[in-house]
Amino acid sequence: MLISVALPLPLFRNFTYEVPDAEAQRARPGMRAVVPFRNRREMGVIVGVDEPADGVVPKLVHALPDTEPVLSADMLALCRWMSEYYIVPLGIAIRTALPAALSSQAAPAPTQKKRRVAVVQRELESLAQRDKIFSRAPQQRAVYELLESVGGRAPVEHLMEKLSISSSVLKGLVTRGVIALEEEVVARDPFAWRALHAPARHAPSAAQREAIDTLARGAAGEVFLLHGVTGSGKTLVYIELLRRVVLEEGKTAIVLVPEIALTPQTVDRFRAVFGDKIAVLHSALSDGERYDEWLALREGRKRIAVGARSAIFAPLADLGAIVVDEEHESSYKQGENPRYHAREVAIVRARQEGALVVLGSATPSLESWVNAKGDKYTLLRLPERVGEARLPKIEVVDRREPREATRAAARGERDAGDWLRLVISEDLEDALGDRLKKQEQSILLLNRRGYSAFVQCAECGEVATCPNCSISLTYHRTPERLVCHYCQHAEPLHTQCPRCKGLVLRQRGLGTQQVERLLADRFPAARIARMDVDTTSGKWAHAEILDRVGNGEVDILLGTQMIAKGLDFPNVTLVGVIDADVGINLPDFRASERCFQLLSQVAGRAGRGPKGGRVLIQTKVPDHHAVRCAVAHDYEGFVRQEFEGRTVPSYPPNVRLANIVFSGTTEAGTADLATAATTWLHRLLRQRPMPGITIVGPAPCPVERIKNRWRWHLLVKAENSAELTRLGRYFLERFKVPKDAELRVTLDRDPVALL
Ligand code: ADP
Ligand code: ZN
Repeated sequence: MLISVALPLPLFRNFTYEVPDAEAQRARPGMRAVVPFRNRREMGVIVGVDEPADGVVPKLVHALPDTEPVLSADMLALCRWMSEYYIVPLGIAIRTALPAALSSQAAPAPTQKKRRVAVVQRELESLAQRDKIFSRAPQQRAVYELLESVGGRAPVEHLMEKLSISSSVLKGLVTRGVIALEEEVVARDPFAWRALHAPARHAPSAAQREAIDTLARGAAGEVFLLHGVTGSGKTLVYIELLRRVVLEEGKTAIVLVPEIALTPQTVDRFRAVFGDKIAVLHSALSDGERYDEWLALREGRKRIAVGARSAIFAPLADLGAIVVDEEHESSYKQGENPRYHAREVAIVRARQEGALVVLGSATPSLESWVNAKGDKYTLLRLPERVGEARLPKIEVVDRREPREATRAAARGERDAGDWLRLVISEDLEDALGDRLKKQEQSILLLNRRGYSAFVQCAECGEVATCPNCSISLTYHRTPERLVCHYCQHAEPLHTQCPRCKGLVLRQRGLGTQQVERLLADRFPAARIARMDVDTTSGKWAHAEILDRVGNGEVDILLGTQMIAKGLDFPNVTLVGVIDADVGINLPDFRASERCFQLLSQVAGRAGRGPKGGRVLIQTKVPDHHAVRCAVAHDYEGFVRQEFEGRTVPSYPPNVRLANIVFSGTTEAGTADLATAATTWLHRLLRQRPMPGITIVGPAPCPVERIKNRWRWHLLVKAENSAELTRLGRYFLERFKVPKDAELRVTLDRDPVALL
């Protein structure tokens, strides 16, 4: 028997192999096959059986490691769609849809680990009883109370990590008969114990009810856009939908969130309702752990997959619903081949499997909004916050400086007081002081990590740049060094300008580390937490910082865009944006949209409780429509103006777009390649005209060099999606890339950024 196998190689074709007779009946599409390929063994997936021979004498497969297909027929169809639409070989689309553990030769055995758990043996009801028992053992008491708060049972490892205690503390508790230590077999789910303290359940508001009811009448494959302002209770709508689909109708569901680590509260709420029916596909899972969850979903032991982008490939049968929370987030787009957008894959998968899709956001992408205004999606609205909460009042702090101040600064005439004032306006300083006095919490956003954006020579103006990337190095204080945020290159701070030997090197532009220091100087008693890439490298770091905020152990949470997502802390009554203008002028057609979304989302963290909230936005461009509309809570006004701005020249959603990027190790080689490709495309279009296609460029990418590779790009705009597919495929299959200077071509369809 002959089979057709898709291999994860950059070749737009599948390969035919022969299966020995003894194995022939076992071979089915969707199973893996180990095959010989150019003197190597490759792991591929069978995509067709009983294929006719393709002329050459087929080689024998080495092995068929599976007894069951790893890809269902539906999932295989989804991979075919990805391969077509994003113009990547089928084998590469398939590799993305499977857990990494399946790329190695044998499927790993499901690894069930044993772990030690502490279990409460004796309930200590009264405080007096506790005071007595733990009078000289405060650590034991802390352990006991933590255990109690998570339902009486928790892994020893977590207790020790959480409370920084040694095992002797636990032994002490065992000796007193308060707890027992047991071994337990676990399907590995390191986050399961977090959510044992169940959040309150609410009865739906009228608006939520209406959305829930409309969803209940949804047709198979229907897409809903849930446009709900921040704090309008979108999560409850998702949960009610899943309650019906999963618990009542016995189907399965997928919930996509931008990043699990940043949305522990949302995940906790799902877990509180659906308990062990949920597989949480966290990025901290090892390949083996991820595979365990994958198996549990495939075998129906778990029926809801919650995760970031790749959870859209959860191997669930009988899919009833897919939720894409914060659908506007750019993290749903994969940065390497296949450059898929999980929202689009969700819609295709749902249509194919008869599930319904809910896209939720307070600031939907322009693409989704246009579809909801037309007849593609059904629009659901939650126009107000739930309960007593109101949207916070947003004020602009105009930071345009009077000319004298700018000149003085240019001459270096500034003292320490000016420095604080440059970063934090009087208004914001007062507001922060006021919150500290009232023991309320504040969130401060500055979307730039590090200490200062760049270091510049005061004499010749030279800026320290990365040797590998065309990007300035960011000054970091702890530890002190210059770091490239693109390639992680780090070097010590110069004492002298490398160009003119000047001795005065100024730090320009502000980063979170610097703001943290200023705040600590100004408010020495305040408990400040900083959350950015540099403080969250550990597995548990995000959750730990957020838990501290939730427990009231932090007065001011300062951070990058990480802190703008989904956080729901009722005691946060002030949000300050240190510099709204970071990124607003990037040469990218989505720069304004991202700025508007970020400002709206971070503002949405304020005033979620009965005390209300206030938002201060510091900006030098108060008239920019992204700032103006965010301040006025005017999503539709923003969309109207932004849409206008994308007509001439046209950008999505007014046109379909692909960004073709050329890169290589030499500047000239890369530029030549881009030019040759453009000429090639123009010639093609002359020979076979494709109406509605425009080629723009080529030009160097805004970031001209990353990791020692030069970059050029050209844009293909199309009125019709199918034409774009046809042209892209024709180009990638036939345009010859010379084999020197490590030249490469990539095509990014529906790009989220053009940098
Ligand atoms: P969103 O995602 O729309 O910003 P959330 O789903 O995070 O909003 O909900 C905001 C807060 O409102 C949460 O603390 C949630 O528990 C609470 N909440 C949701 N629905 C209701 C309701 N019907 N009544 C009271 N509180 C609610
Ligand atoms: Zn670099």
